[in-house]
Amino acid sequence: MSLDIIPIKDWLTGDDLPLVISGPCSAETEEQVLSTAREVAGIPHVKVFRAGLWKPRTRPGGFQGVGERGLEWMKSAGQETGLLTTVEVANPGHIEKALKYGIDILWIGARTVVNPFSIQEICDVLKGVDIPVMVKNPVNPDIRLWIGALERLNQSGINKLIAVHRGFFYYQRENYRNSPMWEIPIELKRLFPNLPVICDPSHICGKRENIHLVAQKAMDMDMAGLMIETHIRPQQALTDAAQQISPAELRFLIDHLVIRKANGNESYRSHLEELRKEIDKVDYALLNVLMQRMRIVDDIGRYKKENNITILQIKRWQTIIKDRLENGLQLGLSEDFLMGLLELIHRESIQRQMDIMNDEENPDPVSFNR
Ligand code: PEP
Ligand code: MN
Repeated sequence: MSLDIIPIKDWLTGDDLPLVISGPCSAETEEQVLSTAREVAGIPHVKVFRAGLWKPRTRPGGFQGVGERGLEWMKSAGQETGLLTTVEVANPGHIEKALKYGIDILWIGARTVVNPFSIQEICDVLKGVDIPVMVKNPVNPDIRLWIGALERLNQSGINKLIAVHRGFFYYQRENYRNSPMWEIPIELKRLFPNLPVICDPSHICGKRENIHLVAQKAMDMDMAGLMIETHIRPQQALTDAAQQISPAELRFLIDHLVIRKANGNESYRSHLEELRKEIDKVDYALLNVLMQRMRIVDDIGRYKKENNITILQIKRWQTIIKDRLENGLQLGLSEDFLMGLLELIHRESIQRQMDIMNDEENPDPVSFNR
């Protein structure tokens, strides 16, 4: 699995990271678009100006976006400020219009990325067009849809790609509008190390208060940039009013971001190397201990088979959970981590015993992915 892409520093950022993309959730009036663009243009790192023009809301009625009219405003905003412009496109008609007005970068929204039919239609009209495309994560936490959209675009010849992490729908919303589920963008970065991934803390938070915390976290995760919704009068915004911030607030946020380096200086690096070697050693020891446990599990499996005893012994399993949780918590491990680990080990132990019951001479080697 790999993507053939041009590094973001070669076509957009140079060495000036993080990239910041800013602008209103929706274009509303020419005055709002232009005055927001003028205000954000002087803020450090802001290189791209965004606005949504087509806003099909969850339910019909209400403000549906200004549509094509807004393209003229975006063009003027770009020309006047020197910022690059980006709008959300969801179908071939949007793309055709955005290209006509010279929009610099396209972005595909979370609701579109869930649907490979739509993505394919978009790819079909983008064949032979040299334009950067940003791909938001799908609404639901399915990394394959996100990867699929990036791959389809790449196969259509789009090689200036950016993935945008905007969080995922989850049922019992509490702290976030969309749960960040950081493990998903981290996995994307692991699979495609050359793909720039930026974070959209506005749609993760849903309210302006927490945006700086999530933006900082994204920086600490070594993300390449931020997309932050910015409105000249946030409280009066026609869409996403609770999560938009003013240009002054954006400037404050960016001024206060702590940008850590991926690699520190020489002595820091050698200290890190030492610590990593220790981690390697501990991990090998851990794997050996796990295998030792599995060998005992196999012995128990054979004993149960010979004596016609059921594999699952629910009382024993309950005791293990209670005892290991108590121990692990005392050691300082978290309950979530302990439960996940115990379940994984138990699942593998049961599987090995089932293999033995089914007369397999040599059970599979330890597998973490069954
Ligand atoms: C937006 O950026 O305004 C938007 C609609 O985003 P998403 O597709 O992430 O919901
Ligand atoms: Mn929005």
